This record gives sequence, structure tokens and C-alpha cells, in this order.
Amino acid sequence: MYGLKTESAFDSAHFLADYYGKCENLHGHRWRVVVYLEQENLQEEGTMRDMVLDFGVFKKAVRSLAEELDHTFLVEEGTLKPATIAALEGEGFSLTVLPFRTTAENLARYFAERLRAEGLPVSQVDMYETPNNCAIWRA
Ligand SMILES: [Zn+2]
Repeated sequence: MYGLKTESAFDSAHFLADYYGKCENLHGHRWRVVVYLEQENLQEEGTMRDMVLDFGVFKKAVRSLAEELDHTFLVEEGTLKPATIAALEGEGFSLTVLPFRTTAENLARYFAERLRAEGLPVSQVDMYETPNNCAIWRA
């Protein structure tokens, strides 16, 4: 089995609805995401011969996904009133509305699903919400 690993980071705000603690209030994180690929065999031909995947392709895929979320407000669909969303957008704030609670666990799974949909053999995603706290998604 062969593997690759790369990482990226993004700064985003979020809050957790129906949560009783500090995280129910709007706050931000520097999310650090580490993505692992795993593949039984190396590629057999072309420019990626004897590689799992070109690091350039891998890094670009992870970075572009991180950039989509960077400096946006991650909002779980249905947790803010439509008038609030409209007011925030009216002020020029950039929102990313997601169909799940914006926990580190779900964000790790989201990265895995999006990258797997691009054909990357993702085996694990570590989503750090702080330098010491990390949620893990594994295939
Ligand atoms: Zn948080």
C-alpha cells in the first residue's frame, strides 16, 4: 500500500446551533486540513508512472477546496433566518451555506467526499479546529 499526504488551511467563521457552550456563539477558526491518499499500486504509465498521484495535482485539489471556504462564514442550512442571511449578504459578507452542522467531523467528511468525487483515493482527512483538537474522517 502506498500513501500521500498534504495539507492546507483556511480561516472561517461558524457557530453551532443547538449547542450549549462557547461554540453556540459566532466565532472563527484557522482550520487546518490534512488529507491522506492510499492506493494499492502505483500508476503504471505516463507522467505519473510510479506515483500515487502527482503532488502538484493533489495539492491543487486540496488548496482549491480550502480556498472555497476561506474567509467565508460557514452556515448550516436552516439555522439562520432568511432575513439574517439576506442582511449579511446585503452587507457584502461571504457565506458558505452547507447542508450539515459545521462541526470539524462533518467538515472532514465534506473534504473527503468532494475530493473522492474528483477521483482522489482519499483514505483519511484530519480537520484541526485548534492546534490541539482534530476530528478525523476515515474511509
Ligand atoms: Zn468552532
